[in-house]
Amino acid sequence: MGGYFFAIFKAHSHIRNPRMKARLMAPHRPDHVWSDTHLLLPSPIRLSVPRRTVLGHMAAGVVGGALAGAAPGVARAGRAAALHAPAVVGRAAPPRPLIMLDPGHGGKDPGAIGFSGTYEKHVAEAAAQELSRQLLATGRYRVALTRASDHFIPLGSRVDMAQQHGAALFISMHADALHNASVRGASVYTHAHGASDSQTADLARTENSADRFAGPMVHGASPEVQRILASLVTEEARKGSSHMAQAVVSAFQSRVQLLTHPHRHAAFAVLKSAQIPSVLVEMGFMSNRLDEAALRQVGHRAMVAGAMCTAVNRYFASAGAGLTG
Ligand SMILES: [Zn+2]
Repeated sequence: MGGYFFAIFKAHSHIRNPRMKARLMAPHRPDHVWSDTHLLLPSPIRLSVPRRTVLGHMAAGVVGGALAGAAPGVARAGRAAALHAPAVVGRAAPPRPLIMLDPGHGGKDPGAIGFSGTYEKHVAEAAAQELSRQLLATGRYRVALTRASDHFIPLGSRVDMAQQHGAALFISMHADALHNASVRGASVYTHAHGASDSQTADLARTENSADRFAGPMVHGASPEVQRILASLVTEEARKGSSHMAQAVVSAFQSRVQLLTHPHRHAAFAVLKSAQIPSVLVEMGFMSNRLDEAALRQVGHRAMVAGAMCTAVNRYFASAGAGLTG
């Protein structure tokens, strides 16, 4: 910008002093450079406004039009200031909702191991990274991952992380194994005390046993306490979870092969958040040769992530989903 101090005035109507306005509007001044809507002012500023005031306006987002509140510099300048900030024109935008992505397993827990040796933990992490990239590209969300590298995290800590960060939505990503290697397709799970079928019960048992890698310290909660914790799942979080699960199934329908009855229920430990709508997405099964081969492909993972991104958009766009977080 050289020696020029760059200031943007979207409109001059807020400048109440007519003489000042005339000076600002004069297009012939050689030390002012005009464009259609922007004015480049030489430095130091040749206005009867202390420079720190203008700097204060800029720091507060006044210059440029993104006014979130009264600029501190306006009050300090008092009567000496000829350059008036407009009144507050709108409320500060609410924070973008935070989506917590949870790539399953990690570190010493490889998750399921595929027919040709692929580790579920690597597929889950790569898919979560891709989904994170796509969600951030929309500009509508903040995204955090329970793990962004290959390390072990106990199941309870994953839920804690989501709650501590005030996540609006929790999405756990997996590609587990089933006894029946012929079963393939994606599915999405929400929390329930009982599993919706025996296949899902097996899956939840295997998945929850991930904490066996954590050692004895994380097994402090008794079954009674665990039941109480599970009962704290609020109706609101339950509805949100179900709504999100339906959005995932609907977004997958045209793009990703699904299991029959793709929305299932199970007592997955990572879905026990009392406050946060939570789903666990099985992107396919490592135990199926075709699913494993597909999930090894960058293009397939991008398509799965794309469908999940669509589901997130639909979830937040629909009434009642809530946008706080
Ligand atoms: Zn898993």
